[in-house]
Amino acid sequence: MSGLVTVEAARSSVLSSCRPLGAVQVRLADALGLVTARAIISGEAVPSFANSSMDGYALRAADVAAGPARLRVVGQLMAGDDPGAVAVRDGEAVRIMTGAALPDGADAVCMVEHTRAKDGWVLIEEAVGPGTNVRRPGEDIAAGEEVFAAGESLGPAHIGVLASLGVAQVHVFPRPRVGVVSTGDELVVGLGPLAPGKIRDSNRPGLLARLRTDGFQPVDLGWAGDEPGALAHALGQAAESCDAVLTSGGVSVGDRDFVKVVLEELGGQQARWWQVAVRPGKPFAFATVPPRSAPVFGLPGNPVSALVSYEMFARPALRLMAGHHSLERPRLLAVAVSDMRRQPDGRLHLVRVSVKTGPRGLEARPSGGQGSHQLRALAAANALALLPDGDGVAAGEKIEVWVLDLDGLTP
Ligand code: AMP
Ligand code: MG
Repeated sequence: MSGLVTVEAARSSVLSSCRPLGAVQVRLADALGLVTARAIISGEAVPSFANSSMDGYALRAADVAAGPARLRVVGQLMAGDDPGAVAVRDGEAVRIMTGAALPDGADAVCMVEHTRAKDGWVLIEEAVGPGTNVRRPGEDIAAGEEVFAAGESLGPAHIGVLASLGVAQVHVFPRPRVGVVSTGDELVVGLGPLAPGKIRDSNRPGLLARLRTDGFQPVDLGWAGDEPGALAHALGQAAESCDAVLTSGGVSVGDRDFVKVVLEELGGQQARWWQVAVRPGKPFAFATVPPRSAPVFGLPGNPVSALVSYEMFARPALRLMAGHHSLERPRLLAVAVSDMRRQPDGRLHLVRVSVKTGPRGLEARPSGGQGSHQLRALAAANALALLPDGDGVAAGEKIEVWVLDLDGLTP
């Protein structure tokens, strides 16, 4: 055992053993949430031609420079029409719709609300300066410009931008494939009544769901029991078929806690088994396992500890593998709505809290029972409050919270 370590020390040790995965090319439709491995240069300008930003009349600004003027309507252009067929000369206007290409000769658009049309003529009621209501070519993106740098995380608007440029494929870091293995002879496989002493597996479904939510590719590798030989076989295979592996259970000091032993066998010198100065989530094992040095995260068995330990160690490491630069959840300050007392024990306490905006700004209140087996309070929480070693905080004091769900901050 390597002794008691801080969360930060254990996390940096884990991160130093992980590398971004090799870049791949994917279809744009599959790139949401992935990180660019190369800069993306635009091959086209957006917009690619001058067009109207309003429904109205395309005209020559010089014709209306002195104020209201009557112009002869010589044609119309709908969005998508080829503008080659019409041109605007002195004293003329063309009826034009939003997105339609500006006809030759025109240099401005008067919005329809400021016009009156009758019998082939239109009264332009106000002066319109050159360039008014015209979207210039390249106004959003110029051809040859760097649109996104390497390391950019692709959200829905990025996908839209790339689609507007006609990009079909992008070079990105792939979504890590992450296997999840449960251990524990007490787990029943499948549904049906529980035999005496048995429990249902909540860690594997919970972790698989968490991985999916976080944008990784979850792989359900089933259950491996507590027999060291079978565990070694299962974890060896998992490390071969996946980019990373999560296990739950078997890393504490019980007589059947063999995950840490097996990880030491598989990972050799580099394997770690820590007692982390945190609650929940104290025991944690980690190794990189041949043949591909896949990181294996030996998460604790208690359901809350498994998910919290994942947050502290696995999620940042998996984000690093996925090419992200920002690895951490946002940390915000909130007001404790009630006393949050604790005993000094040399550990950081993470309290499951519900954080909402309220009269005092962000307000945090414990979301239920704080035992590491009480998963319901984690379901009711959208953040973890950080209570440093000591005796806690009083109502009204500020605390730092790790936000797990930003959407949940509104009341
Ligand atoms: P362990 O560290 O293996 O002794 O597990 C600690 C606690 O977590 C025990 O109460 C286990 O029964 C429980 N546990 C382990 N794995 C799971 C699981 N997959 N789902 C629910 N509880 C579990
Ligand atoms: Mg166990």
